[in-house]
Amino acid sequence: MALRLHNTLTRRVEPFAPLDPVNGPTMYLCGPTVYNYVHIGNARGPVVFDVLAALLRRRFGQLRYARNITDVDDKINAAAREAGVPISAITERFTQVYLDEMAALGVQPQPLQPKATEHIAQIIAMIERLIERGHAYAAEGHVLFSVGSYKDYGKLSRQSPEDMLAGARVDVAPYKQDAGDFVLWKPSTDDLPGWDSPWGRGRPGWHIECSAMAEAHLGETIDIHAGGIDLQFPHHENEVAQSECAHGGKPFARFWLHNGMLVFGGSKMSKSLGNVERIHTLLERYPGRSEALRYALLSAHYRQPLDWTPALVEQSIRTLDRLYGTLRDLGDVDATAVIPQSVEEMLDDDLNTPQALAELARLAGDARKAEGADARRDAKAALLGAGLALGLLQREPSEWIAGETSDDDDARIQGLIDARIAAKAAKDFARADAIRKQLADDGILLEDTPQGVRWKRA
Ligand SMILES: [Zn+2]
Repeated sequence: MALRLHNTLTRRVEPFAPLDPVNGPTMYLCGPTVYNYVHIGNARGPVVFDVLAALLRRRFGQLRYARNITDVDDKINAAAREAGVPISAITERFTQVYLDEMAALGVQPQPLQPKATEHIAQIIAMIERLIERGHAYAAEGHVLFSVGSYKDYGKLSRQSPEDMLAGARVDVAPYKQDAGDFVLWKPSTDDLPGWDSPWGRGRPGWHIECSAMAEAHLGETIDIHAGGIDLQFPHHENEVAQSECAHGGKPFARFWLHNGMLVFGGSKMSKSLGNVERIHTLLERYPGRSEALRYALLSAHYRQPLDWTPALVEQSIRTLDRLYGTLRDLGDVDATAVIPQSVEEMLDDDLNTPQALAELARLAGDARKAEGADARRDAKAALLGAGLALGLLQREPSEWIAGETSDDDDARIQGLIDARIAAKAAKDFARADAIRKQLADDGILLEDTPQGVRWKRA
């Protein structure tokens, strides 16, 4: 058995082993820019790569895993100006919100959580090295990376220079030698956050932060760089260029892993379409059910798009109801989690979480049928173990089941109604009818009115 991962660099699934077998693998995941509540699509990477991090620790005994926080950015400056508060008030608040939300989704905290503002010295040092080696130049208080100085530029996203220019939506600026050159450092006015540098008071560009923080915590060549597919270009392409040029051509990341995007009823989730589902809204809508959000995020293979619908969350809640119900029925059995070989093999196969979730359901079926003390103990150990590998089923069954009948029932009913509306909009009338029937079975009557759907208890 060997772990195999899809590598964007080669577009192939390849066997994975760490560069340094003694100290174990290294992994870097691009984190959030902390200026607002993030949408559920931003949680897919952290949840999927949380499963991978646990797997890497099991395979190789240890892992150095850095997930950064971008706490200097023009979007943060704009948010602070709009709210009339200091920038730190915005970044501190939304860093905490983000960490709390990740904890609610079962994402394990990591010791390496570098912040951009705490690595300004390393960023400046890396920019100086790039200038010395002829890969960057200073102009009018800016420092720019010279794309023409790096012959492999574009090797990750495999785009032509013309496509890259179009994709990067580059600003035309008089201080640029080439339109594709990107900013490493830019000047700050007095009202903006800034640090003294050889090029005057200023602040770093976004891409250089990740290169500098990866180097500071994980070294010059890292095993795995992960992130959303939307970051592949220009962000990740620029990270490769900066790091490899700063390190005399040494490879930056041996494996690039990219997760697919969330879509909402077939279209991309975006602010302009008004279909953004924020994590904090979902946590309010499904109180006590955050584990179902994690389940839903793992329900498709990480490289595929995931269609996020209220029905998906509802299905995930029902599935966890059944799984926790099985564990409750095994409440008299004393067992510790043992991760089944079958689940390990599915995860070794480029992190096939949908298959592992199907296996979880199969193991629960076996557990319900198990007879005799030994068989019941083994079945419970396997079910708990499969859950452990996915970061699921680690609560007391009674806790999950109690959530079901708490005062939060109204939110659950509203969630079902939303799911039914979405099903009707998608012309999935069988599902819409099934949800109506489920609500009727729960004693909830629906009434379609000009103001929308109203409901009452029978
Ligand atoms: Zn990054």
